Amino acid sequence: MLKIEQVKEAHDNIKCYAKYTPILYSEAAAKDFGFKLMLKAENFQTTNSFKIRGASNCILKELESSKGLKGVVTASSGNHGQAVAYVAYRLRIPAIIVMPETAPEAKIKAVSRWGAKIEFCGTTSQQRLNRSKQIAEQEGYFEIPPYDHYNVIAGQGTIGKEILEQVPDVEAVFIPIGGGGLISGIATYIKNIKPQVKVIGGEPEESNSMSVSIRKGEIVRLDKTDSIADGLLSLEPGSMTFPLVKKFVDDIETVSELEISSAMIACIEYFKTVPEPSGAVSVAAAIKSDWRKGKKIVSLVSGGNIDMNRLYHLTCV
Ligand SMILES: *Cc1c(COP(=O)(O)O)cnc(C)c1O
Repeated sequence: MLKIEQVKEAHDNIKCYAKYTPILYSEAAAKDFGFKLMLKAENFQTTNSFKIRGASNCILKELESSKGLKGVVTASSGNHGQAVAYVAYRLRIPAIIVMPETAPEAKIKAVSRWGAKIEFCGTTSQQRLNRSKQIAEQEGYFEIPPYDHYNVIAGQGTIGKEILEQVPDVEAVFIPIGGGGLISGIATYIKNIKPQVKVIGGEPEESNSMSVSIRKGEIVRLDKTDSIADGLLSLEPGSMTFPLVKKFVDDIETVSELEISSAMIACIEYFKTVPEPSGAVSVAAAIKSDWRKGKKIVSLVSGGNIDMNRLYHLTCV
């Protein structure tokens, strides 16, 4: 299991790559919602999502233990792929990002910006994962998983340390769940330091593999997932993240697509900040949760990478 020392060490490790992001507060939101809602703004993070924390920690730890890296590879084309490309660029090591043949122009641009090589492969995540493994073996590159690795989880956990420093009297934190790396790192840290703070997850209704698995008591793989929250579409929890969520997370709230887009509007209207749909799931979860009443809450806005055309369509409902 993950130890909080690993999270503390990660915080030190990554400070040249990841920013210490601000907490946003809106008195108007507190008045209208009836609870003190604060946002931890990882949409302002390097490459505009928290993924830089886990990616940089994982790559730096590997560099330390292997004395040099030939290159890094990952099958994720979203925020994790961008973060891996950025860290490789800063360290001047080659990176290959495996993307679907159907990848949108914006994602191709965001990764190419940092000099990473893109390899297009099939349309399913299984095809890409296989190809990424093959590259790792053939080229001797190090593969960086998006969530199921303790050095990645420890990196994401550094957000928990910052939240407790920035809001020492916080009563509950809300965190979006995809594969579960983000919430398991944060929950491990917070529950070890301040167990009275509630750690609550947020998942889209049609992409709720963690809620289903927790209810069943074992990892359940869904046949399909569907949501505007494109960072939360994993079919199943990770084998390392699931036990941590089971042990440390108090509750998981599921939210509808309409609740996600309404939460995006709330972020823009009250906090003057732009989240991507995945990043607003924690805000949607806090707004509907029974845990919120009269409480001091931090919702994690996990990322802000959204195409402006999509933003227009999602918020004009
Ligand atoms: C990856 C991602 C998540 C989910 O993180 P997991 O570690 O997979 O649970 C949430 N929000 C954004 C913006 C992401 O990129």
